Amino acid sequence: RSVCGRSAPPRMTAAASPSSGAEAPSALPDDGEWAIDSWRRFPALQQPVYPDETALAEVEDRLSRNPPLVFPGETERLKTSLAAAGRGEAFVLQGGDCAETFDDFSTTSVEATFRLLIAQVIAMSYLSGLPIVKIGRIAGQFAKPRSALTEKTADGQEIPSYRGDIIHSSDPSAEARVPDPERLVRAYSQSAAALNMLRALAKSSSSMGDWTDLISTLGGDAQRDLVEKIEDALSFVSACGVAVEGNAAFREPEFYTSHEALLLPFEQALTRYVAAHPSRRGGDATASSKAWWNTSAHMVWVGERTRQLDHAHVEFLRGISNPIGVKVGPTTEPEYLLQILERLNPTNEEGRIMVIVRMGAEKVWRKLPPLLRAVTAAGKHVVWSCDPMHENTIKTASGVKTRPVDLIMNEMNAFFSVHAAEGTVPGGIHLEMTGLRDVTECLGGGESPVSERALADNYQSACDPRLNGSQALEVAIAAGRRLRE
Ligand code: PEP
Ligand code: MN
Repeated sequence: RSVCGRSAPPRMTAAASPSSGAEAPSALPDDGEWAIDSWRRFPALQQPVYPDETALAEVEDRLSRNPPLVFPGETERLKTSLAAAGRGEAFVLQGGDCAETFDDFSTTSVEATFRLLIAQVIAMSYLSGLPIVKIGRIAGQFAKPRSALTEKTADGQEIPSYRGDIIHSSDPSAEARVPDPERLVRAYSQSAAALNMLRALAKSSSSMGDWTDLISTLGGDAQRDLVEKIEDALSFVSACGVAVEGNAAFREPEFYTSHEALLLPFEQALTRYVAAHPSRRGGDATASSKAWWNTSAHMVWVGERTRQLDHAHVEFLRGISNPIGVKVGPTTEPEYLLQILERLNPTNEEGRIMVIVRMGAEKVWRKLPPLLRAVTAAGKHVVWSCDPMHENTIKTASGVKTRPVDLIMNEMNAFFSVHAAEGTVPGGIHLEMTGLRDVTECLGGGESPVSERALADNYQSACDPRLNGSQALEVAIAAGRRLRE
């Protein structure tokens, strides 16, 4: 706790200083008790400025009286699974869009991402022998941090950068980029509809044959062998008299949602003081069993640009009971990491913190070991996850933002190798991906590699480039193989 006490100012590393927006304060603000709105006393980076604060407050009030999107009992179960992943008894696959949008929302888009994730999970659990914890970047991944305050339109106009559909429209005009509070309500409604769809998909049993077909379709010839092995394993199991199809593990995959907790008024409005298991205690939960749960998603994370120790996002997150992700880029110092762990998880609860490492294919070799050593030496429980996407973004000569699958694979492989060398546990991977067909946003990969010229064919992402279905399956399979070693 001393890191944010008035007597001991926090150390600000290069990564922890703001990359855009307001300047960090030279002195700490009053650091009292946590409250649901205590973050408002701290500087909040990457927040939109609403032209009408009263309209925003009215929306916040409305949302705070709406039903929760997810239930704390589910969120608590995810924490238990994450604790297992931290010990090497499970592995996390977290994936989905960089930014969900209001336009690309359909049965098809939600179902495609869900089905891709389950196909990846079946391949990964076959290859690794581990339970795979399934977390979508979905049903609420609407707010985007941006490095630049403005962007240029095709005709050379400078307009505010796009910050996600929960803030404003992506249309390239200054008027479209004015923040509109009503979009919070729309994001809430779309999240509820997506969750409804996801819950139905998780309950409706697809037969195992459908999943192996999907692996065949996405993986092509390269994965023929794997598909045959999975099918053999399944027929062996059913020959032994075990009904795979009826097995709860296959019939009702436990599926969790996540997003970056960026837009704090929204996150606060969905955070409730409730018991995780009200019914088990018969009627009203006692005060002691209640806690603050963010019901906008099961897991939320703090991004690379907003994780300053003495700023609003960390202040908000430290008081909620959900599992929290912390993105760490290549400038992260071990001392800073220990400080944020102390701040977000002073009791060292297992399953509470996922450190999402996004160092880049080269830097990860040098930058990750000191972090692993510091956290191990301090005896802190974390789940180490690899985000091989965000530090491997390049621009083509014609200015298209893309990511080479080779670099993504390299960073992930390095992540596994560094853990093996350090004797620590790789706990998960974090991917930006879409199950939508034939998307061409990342370069190379798989059976029909995407060429630089082909990027223009079907580039749909509202923000960062995503792996398409076959690229994402290939990365997942590579992770599964590394887990077996
Ligand atoms: C993201 O996950 O889309 C993102 C913006 O990540 P980061 O904070 O790691 O840059
Ligand atoms: Mn992204």
